[in-house]
Amino acid sequence: MCGIVGYIGPRQAFPILIKGLHRLEYRGYDSAGVALLNEHCELNVYKSKGKVADLEAVVQDKDSTGTVGIAHTRWATHGEPNQINAHPHVSASGDIALIHNNGIIENYAVLKQSLQANGYVFKSSTDTEVLVQLIDYILRKDKSDLLTAVQLALDRWSVLMP
Ligand code: GLU
Repeated sequence: MCGIVGYIGPRQAFPILIKGLHRLEYRGYDSAGVALLNEHCELNVYKSKGKVADLEAVVQDKDSTGTVGIAHTRWATHGEPNQINAHPHVSASGDIALIHNNGIIENYAVLKQSLQANGYVFKSSTDTEVLVQLIDYILRKDKSDLLTAVQLALDRWSVLMP
């Protein structure tokens, strides 16, 4: 059983996110990751196979500043447990980081094919990366806001179909 932690507020997000991930460890997981938005609005994503402590080691000498962040402990369903398949997954634009918990995107294969036909290149073997690239595609195509793009991605997967 995987887990998600999110934080937005006045404090530094990373220590809060890590504390939250440690509290979720009892549920079981195979990898962990975090996405942080720093004060320059740069998105930093760090991931690790193994324990939350392994993730902390990865981040130790990196920029872990920012008051907005999301974090995840993964239980793999699509793609082996490794660093590349760990969440968060980032959109082609580099603007969106996405975590997906306890779920399977049943039609991910057909969505992936359609996105590939539209020029998207996938880094991971997960179903989750398909969702973040679909949101990215809708944002570009419809020039919609993020909330609308997420709603469309979840409701109208056929947007990519001819
Ligand atoms: N389908 C997702 C994956 O394999 C599930 C991740 C999870 O629930 O932790 O990455």
